[in-house]
Amino acid sequence: MKTQALTRPTDDEVNALIYTRASMDRQYLMRSTDDQETDCRSWCDQQTWHVGKVITDANRSASQWRTREREGFEEALRLIASKQYDAFVTWEPSRAGRELLAYVQLRAACQEAGVLYLTKGRVYDFARSDDAFMMGLEFLTAEKDAAVIRERQLRTVRLHAQQGRPHGRLPFGYRRVYDEHTGVLLRQEIDPEKAAIIVNAVDEILSGVPMNAIVTRLNKAGIPTPMKPTSDHSRGWMNSTLRQMLRSPTIAGLRKYQGKVIGEADWPAIIPRDRWEQVNRVLEDRARRTRYVEEDNHSHPKWLLSFIAKCGYCSGPLVRLHGMVPRKDGTRRDNYACPTVGCRRISIDIPRTDAYVVGALLGWLAKPESLAVIAGPSENWHERVQEAEAQVARLRQRLDQAAEEYAAGRISLTMLSSIERRLNPEIEQAAKATVPPVSADDVLRLLQAEDIESAWERLDLLEKRRIVKLLLDIRVVKAPQLGGKFDPNRIKIAPRFVPHEQYRWTRSEQP
Ligand SMILES: [Zn+2]
Repeated sequence: MKTQALTRPTDDEVNALIYTRASMDRQYLMRSTDDQETDCRSWCDQQTWHVGKVITDANRSASQWRTREREGFEEALRLIASKQYDAFVTWEPSRAGRELLAYVQLRAACQEAGVLYLTKGRVYDFARSDDAFMMGLEFLTAEKDAAVIRERQLRTVRLHAQQGRPHGRLPFGYRRVYDEHTGVLLRQEIDPEKAAIIVNAVDEILSGVPMNAIVTRLNKAGIPTPMKPTSDHSRGWMNSTLRQMLRSPTIAGLRKYQGKVIGEADWPAIIPRDRWEQVNRVLEDRARRTRYVEEDNHSHPKWLLSFIAKCGYCSGPLVRLHGMVPRKDGTRRDNYACPTVGCRRISIDIPRTDAYVVGALLGWLAKPESLAVIAGPSENWHERVQEAEAQVARLRQRLDQAAEEYAAGRISLTMLSSIERRLNPEIEQAAKATVPPVSADDVLRLLQAEDIESAWERLDLLEKRRIVKLLLDIRVVKAPQLGGKFDPNRIKIAPRFVPHEQYRWTRSEQP
């Protein structure tokens, strides 16, 4: 191949042409043209090149595809030939056309006009025979080995992540500002209107508003979701939409790579980090999750403790079982029972269990120490929860060490059992301190009610279920003998919270 000696413009004089094309193949490394453009621009930034123009071939339906598939690519080839541009940029070689023919055309056009080719962050000069050879190889590889492409792309992502630069899809709550002349990304800044949605949702969750209520409010207000609607039948906001948005470190001004927070980002936080961590603790607490079921749906809850009380053997949730055999008076019994195949060891009368649990709950709520479950209005409990987690980890480690000592024959089984008996309750206690405190209005109202029993009766079943699930851990163990009378000792109730050390009982006017 003939090597031409061309006079190249210096890097800051390079005028680049970006070409993006949506892939037809949706499962395979699908990248939106916006994402491709973002990457291409960042590579140009690295080279200090100026982006002169972006051409996009949008995804088309199969029927349009044959005739119009490469409209943009043909335009790009014409522009390369016009010598108005010094560089041609695509996200990956196959973006410039899957066929080798496309490569041959591109190479010819670039060689003829002395245009550099930038792809996957690397610059190729077709005037250099080794670059032309490598590039040809890249095209062949691109057709064959998508994994390689992915690996290289991940490297670029990692690079961006380490630099804390915005990457990929624009996160909800932000907007990107580009230089109007050079097209260079200047910054990612807060979009006040959208950010307010996030701020409100965080406030509500931290003050105990259930996720369902927030989602319903957003849908009623017709607020567009962070996802682009894929059809006219977009389902609107769902619990998962909101959860995903609030869990993202992006909104706390943090950069994530492969699921881990790797440092501060170069964009501002919508939610301060402490507050974001608190909201994540609350979202992680499974006992606060409620599934929204329509009133007329057959799985709308009708019983206080179904799916809340647990089997004392397999820890599976108990469900309501309607008795098959009528009693003497013709009625059939309703029981909470373990439906788990291979267990099914638990069955207990529903009305009496409900009455016993409600009695225990209201009794506990009337005690001063139950107030410890309540978060102060601006209390930063995150540190306390973190300490409790570290304590759980330390205790578990001690247990592991003891097990290793036993395995190595250094301590006896009796010794190991005695260590276990001592440590297990400590671990259980410490684990309770990792549950985020409660700030739900309905619980607060109940605590302050003059007559707690009638206040409880005024709640509807869903509210009652939510409070029981939030506050108590309920397990039912087996009856000592079959057919015995109802035995409340079978119901093991434990509050999910412990008073923390800093907690002090201050309502001294109480009797
Ligand atoms: Zn069971």
